[in-house]
Formats: sequence, C-alpha cells, structure tokens
Amino acid sequence: MVLTELLEFGIMITVINMAKKTPPHSKTCDCQAYRRSRRREAILEVLSSESGHLNAEQVHKAAQRRIPGIGIATVYRALKCLCGCGKVSEFIPADGVARYEPAGERAHHDHLICTACGAFIEAVDPEIERLQERLAARHGFVIASHRLEIYGLCRNCAKKK
Ligand SMILES: [Zn+2]
Ligand SMILES: [Zn+2]
Ligand SMILES: [Zn+2]
Repeated sequence: MVLTELLEFGIMITVINMAKKTPPHSKTCDCQAYRRSRRREAILEVLSSESGHLNAEQVHKAAQRRIPGIGIATVYRALKCLCGCGKVSEFIPADGVARYEPAGERAHHDHLICTACGAFIEAVDPEIERLQERLAARHGFVIASHRLEIYGLCRNCAKKK
C-alpha cells in the first residue's frame, strides 16, 4: 500500500541518513533539574498537540500561547534537553531546518515530504525496513538507527500540477 503511494508520489530523491547517535549528556545539561519544569512540559505538549514536525520557531510561536513571553533561547534549551532525554527527536530534512517531533513511546516511522506545501506524511513499510537491514548487513554494517526521507509532491499538490 505504501509502495503504491510511493509510485503515485513520484520519487525524486531518496535519502537515507544514518542518524547520529544521541550524544551522551554533557555535564552542563540541567536536564535533571529541568525535568519537571513547566516550560519543558509545555514544549512537549506543543509537540504532541500540533500537527507535528515543527521547526524551533514554530514551536516557539505555539509555546507562547501557553507561556506568554517565553523566549526562543528557552525553547532551544528545552528542545535540546528533551532530545537528550529521548522524549523528542530532531531531524534535519533537505532544507536544512531542524524539525522536532515527540519520540519515546512513538513507533518508528519514515517521512514523505512534500516540497510544494511542506507536508510531512508519516509512513512505514516493513518490507523497506527489512531491505535496509539487508543492505546494511551486506556491508557488515550494524544499524543504530535510520531515517528515510522521500521528497516529492503530496496527493493534493500532485493533483494541482
Ligand atoms: Zn524506517
Ligand atoms: Zn503538498
Ligand atoms: Zn514524523
């Protein structure tokens, strides 16, 4: 089903990034103290309630509705902390702007990214997952994590063409 979608979608570029392993917490990270802070919780709420895949500025905008006057530096700090704790995952698509989404208990998924409207479509196909394992194994490569991003036009934007 996903494969059919992929064909309709028109694959432009397929990028497989081996995501960097989350670096161990630096001693300067105040994660522990920060854990229950209202700001950090508010940002986690923003990421869970909005449509997802927000950049830091969008997170900031949405967070301001919850905590008026919250600064962008605080948002960056909270995001860094949440990523370090594994509650949020950061990824950088081809436009070079980091996006954030809740992680943790959420299942792994890959993204179909519309270059016209910017939509992120979450998709996963067990066969593609297996193929990646096989590809890695062929190179004696042990996968820590992966990210598959496919760029093109979403159903709506493809119709407009
Ligand atoms: Zn995947
Ligand atoms: Zn689109
Ligand atoms: Zn996603």
